[in-house]
Amino acid sequence: MLIEKIVKSAKKINVVVQHDFYSQTLDSSLWKSDPNVFYSAIADLARDLETKQTDAIHSLLYHLQSFGLLNKVFSLDWGQMEKKSCIAKEKIIKVYGNVDRAICEICGATSGKQEFQEALETTDLLSCREFSCHGNLMRPAVVLPEGRFPKDYLIALNTSLRQADLLLCFLFNPEADSSVLYNIASKSSNIVVVGRSFPQGLSPCQNVTFFQTADPTLLAKEIMNNWDREEEVAPLFFQYDLPIANAHQQCTCIIM
Ligand SMILES: [Zn+2]
Repeated sequence: MLIEKIVKSAKKINVVVQHDFYSQTLDSSLWKSDPNVFYSAIADLARDLETKQTDAIHSLLYHLQSFGLLNKVFSLDWGQMEKKSCIAKEKIIKVYGNVDRAICEICGATSGKQEFQEALETTDLLSCREFSCHGNLMRPAVVLPEGRFPKDYLIALNTSLRQADLLLCFLFNPEADSSVLYNIASKSSNIVVVGRSFPQGLSPCQNVTFFQTADPTLLAKEIMNNWDREEEVAPLFFQYDLPIANAHQQCTCIIM
């Protein structure tokens, strides 16, 4: 079965997990023009993220981790992965930051979680306590995407790809990912994308296997259901029989 082969094929796996964008996408210009609105928008985002059901993906990642297969997780869910899963902190790269705290852009001081929570509820903006910062307003420690990844993310991803032999992407919004996936695809030979539609800008002749599914968490559930817990794991995973090795058969589309 192809799903089993995908998991078997990798010694180490990088995973990109992205959730739906917050419907009212904001950017740093909003922060500069109206910090109050920015704070209340982050409060809405935090509430919205609380309701996301991503347990199946978290279970799969935890499973990969327990078998020593998980290299890094690039999480684009503003800190929810760290909060809701049992993945080791050092494995999670929070691409868009964290909705739990604010940061001073001058000195780098961060707020406490509870203090920030109260600020979001009351929209009383936090100021930096460092004397030399002259009461500079602390910005929520998030990056709102505008359809592009932060530069640091690309650098970290490229570095990390050299240490892993499979990039597994769970994408809920392929449009926003097109440019970065295009970059990744040119650097990595093994990419599996799970999403609603094939990401724009990603050429089908590149080394990509794409699973189309209305709900990307379904594939995570399927892999978990088909995982043979009794089987000896080590020799299983070190086989290398993924069908995307052939340059002309790399784009396998499976409608689930
Ligand atoms: Zn400061």
